[in-house]
Amino acid sequence: MQKQQLLYKGKAKSVYETDDNDFLILHFRDDTSAFNGERVEQLARKGQVNNRFNAFIMQKLSEAGIETHFEKQLSDNEVLVKRLEMIPVECVVRNFAAGSLVRRLGLEEGQALTPPTFELFFKDDALGDPMVNESLSITLGWATAEQLEEMKRLTYQVNEVLKAMFEVGDLMLVDFKLEFGVYHGRIVLGDEFSPDGCRIWDKTTKKKLDKDRFRQSLGDVIEAYEEVAQRIGVPLD
Ligand code: ADP
Ligand code: UDP
Repeated sequence: MQKQQLLYKGKAKSVYETDDNDFLILHFRDDTSAFNGERVEQLARKGQVNNRFNAFIMQKLSEAGIETHFEKQLSDNEVLVKRLEMIPVECVVRNFAAGSLVRRLGLEEGQALTPPTFELFFKDDALGDPMVNESLSITLGWATAEQLEEMKRLTYQVNEVLKAMFEVGDLMLVDFKLEFGVYHGRIVLGDEFSPDGCRIWDKTTKKKLDKDRFRQSLGDVIEAYEEVAQRIGVPLD
């Protein structure tokens, strides 16, 4: 598969076309951003840690019967993926309260959410990724009711698979964000699953081991990502 021109440079990854219209190459960069791109820093090793982390998780999800865009890890920073027509709605599941939910509803951080909640956000940096609902998503043409139903079902299924996986490493999967797209008519999991797009805490100490270390300037960001990787068995070299 030949890498061709740059299609899109996102906040964390660059997307390249290939000589096959059905596939793209994602390049994970070291850029780390927060607050919708307001703050950006380079964190050494982040690209390769997230690329390996994501490859490991996507393969586990695929083994659990969830179709993903992952095809093959090509190099330290690059992965070959199916080219999806992305749905511009982010799916968030929460097992414990944190982040925007705490700010919005004044909940206590760490409060258990039973059953886990499911939220939708419109993917739009300029608008700050506002919260939306199914009705808006359908009326505004972002997805059909059937697609949204499938995205919700798959997001909850991912939650069950990953909660169990993190539990083995004495870790809490607090919340996470997924993006889906359409591939030959099917809803397929795209983008990435890495500590950039989820919250993971140590079960005993509640130490934050995800991107909140960057957002809240807690230090040792990539060291924390590597610790999570090591605890759940992601091969880092
Ligand atoms: P952002 O766009 O939020 O800044 P990234 O820097 O991660 O995010 O850029 C990657 C972009 O590639 C995202 O817009 C994401 O929706 C898109 N993307 C991820 N996987 C695929 C795929 N398989 N096919 C097409 N686009 C994808
Ligand atoms: N998230 C993400 N990208 C976004 C927004 C959220 O990956 O554009 C993730 C975030 O890392 C967290 C979950 O989705 O794991 C829920 O985020 P929240 O709504 O609490 O927003 P935040 O506090 O991060 O602004």
